[in-house]
Amino acid sequence: MKLDSKIPAGRLEEKWENYRSKCKLVSPANKRRLDVIVIGSGLAGASAAATLGELGYKVKCFCFQDSPRRAHSIAAQGGINAAKNYQNDGDSIYRLFYDTIKGGDYRSREANVHRLAEVSVQIIDQCVAQGVPFAREYGGLLANRSFGGVQVSRTFYARGQTGQQLLLGAYSALSRQIASGSVKMYNRHEMLDVVVIDGKARGIIARNLITGKLERHGAHAVVLASGGYGNVFFLSTNAMGSNVTAAWKAHRKGALFANPCFTQIHPTCIPVTGGYQSKLTLMSESLRNDGRVWVPKKKEDRLKPPQQIPEEDRDYYLERMYPAFGNLVPRDIASRAAKVVCDEGRGVVKSGYAVYLDFSDAIKRLGKSVIASRYGNLFDMYQRITDDNPYETPMKIFPAVHYTMGGLWVDYDLSTNIPGLYAIGEANFSDHGANRLGASALMQGLADGYFVLPVTIAQFLADEIRTPSVNTDHKAFEEAEAQVSEQLERLLNIKGNKSVDDYHQALGKIMWDKCGMARNKQGLLKARKEIQDLRDEFWQNVYVPGTQLEFNSELEKAGRLADYFELGELMVIDALNREESCGGHFREEFTDNGEALRDDENFNFVSAWEFTGTGNDPVLHREALVYENVKPSTRSYK
Ligand SMILES: Cc1cc2nc3c(=O)[nH]c(=O)nc-3n(C[C@H](O)[C@H](O)[C@H](O)COP(=O)(O)OP(=O)(O)OC[C@H]3O[C@@H](n4cnc5c(N)ncnc54)[C@H](O)[C@@H]3O)c2cc1C
Repeated sequence: MKLDSKIPAGRLEEKWENYRSKCKLVSPANKRRLDVIVIGSGLAGASAAATLGELGYKVKCFCFQDSPRRAHSIAAQGGINAAKNYQNDGDSIYRLFYDTIKGGDYRSREANVHRLAEVSVQIIDQCVAQGVPFAREYGGLLANRSFGGVQVSRTFYARGQTGQQLLLGAYSALSRQIASGSVKMYNRHEMLDVVVIDGKARGIIARNLITGKLERHGAHAVVLASGGYGNVFFLSTNAMGSNVTAAWKAHRKGALFANPCFTQIHPTCIPVTGGYQSKLTLMSESLRNDGRVWVPKKKEDRLKPPQQIPEEDRDYYLERMYPAFGNLVPRDIASRAAKVVCDEGRGVVKSGYAVYLDFSDAIKRLGKSVIASRYGNLFDMYQRITDDNPYETPMKIFPAVHYTMGGLWVDYDLSTNIPGLYAIGEANFSDHGANRLGASALMQGLADGYFVLPVTIAQFLADEIRTPSVNTDHKAFEEAEAQVSEQLERLLNIKGNKSVDDYHQALGKIMWDKCGMARNKQGLLKARKEIQDLRDEFWQNVYVPGTQLEFNSELEKAGRLADYFELGELMVIDALNREESCGGHFREEFTDNGEALRDDENFNFVSAWEFTGTGNDPVLHREALVYENVKPSTRSYK
């Protein structure tokens, strides 16, 4: 299979403009005849569905929550990037592009990233017009703060609730289209397969989660905006329901899965406290604007109250190791540094896995009320969970799984290799290379949904105007529905004696220990075998109560976990294959003075994997990355 990324010719800064000026369009009269299915109502899905509806397409939008505005995007805290340069601190579209390419450790496509930086400016204007209450300076302009891996302030925010406010904006836009009849919303529906007819995506099989009934929905094109797969690790900062099923079913039908092992471990999360925990809580990266990260210099001080450790006995290790960026180094670097000091025995909780994030200097400098106005809700959340007051005692934090840079392979049009099947937002692999910069996921989701997909999807749909509405009596729908039903019955009939969560927790432990913050060949080989064994056991011994035709959340979880087993194995295979360290992928064998050692000669490509059957070796396709504008170099934040 030849991978064509369809990057337009011409100068980097002109590619998107030229593309938009010359691409195919669909006339308003024809749009009314074309059906588009959007899976997901997070920032990517809601913005795409609303925009496609406004353009005149007939849209069906699906989510598994009871309302579109409960999508995982609502949890996003810190902010959204845009190259507005309101601060006049030297920002520009090129600088946002450059920071993103460098932050991703030179493993993303130049053309996609430049387009993202261009579009970032429009996103803020659109959101302001919707009424998103971004923080403002005293003069009325929108305020900005800094995020990791950059030296300018370009992050727009609404306290620590940016995702919520942006999602309410997108939800308002979506609701307007629902009311006008251009979008039909299917809450509490889970897509369980994509239907492919004559090589094109033509619909989905969905389960109504309230009644348990399977439904067939046909369309001229299907857009997956189904989010990321960090929950394969069981413990992550993702919403409990986030899962890989939509993307994985597409993968099983032939869509390539790109860079699955590129996982982002976020440095500032509330540490794990015990075996019964099922969720981890993020403390936003924005806190590193004013919080200083440290551990005691001496191991014997690690459990002393922090106030009793004098300044000269504290190791502000990020400021020491990376003076140019200090506490605002990118996430992969900050996470690994925390692991190093904890592995040295200087972690500040009993388990040894935590470091301090300390606001005392900022409070002395700026006053408590300024800190409260910037981060008040995050401080409250921290106090409610830990019973510690972060205004008085430093927060204790540790890295946790947070985001997945990998996802369905897409070309410049955001199309997978299956014609008519698109992937946007966190569900695709596109723009962040091996490490995403903070506040860039919201930017990408809204860029894809509001501005990119509505243009690029016309390249496919313009040739479909003579295709009648898809008939869901087609054999392909029948077969897909039968397979879905069969899998659900199979899960229910096992009647074993371990719960879905028991297996998920065990899978998560394998993934975290052997394919987490650091990986090596021996561990990865072991992990593959362990995952296969655990998967076999799951299919013989899981207990799923109830029946298919009812609300059955254990059945939902079991189906999602079945897909996680297959994905987990692919992540391990991908990590094994990539014999280099880059961004969030840290192979212990490939390091230089403790830092990631990339191998551009042999691994300057996107890994796009083809499914060949459960437990079989997948086929690797390589998309070579071409850098014409930025010269890949060793990332330095020192
Ligand atoms: C705690 C936290 C804080 C964050 N803070 C920030 C931040 O400050 N800035 C930033 O840029 N990024 C942040 N991120 C990352 C960012 O929130 C996500 O990457 C982004 O919101 C993903 O949006 P999405 O639209 O792609 O997917 P999601 O918001 O995950 O939405 C997925 C949608 O797909 C639907 N869905 C999934 N599968 C199916 C299926 N099979 N059938 C039907 N529907 C389905 C779901 O119902 C949902 O509607 C944060 C992440 C976390 C976890």
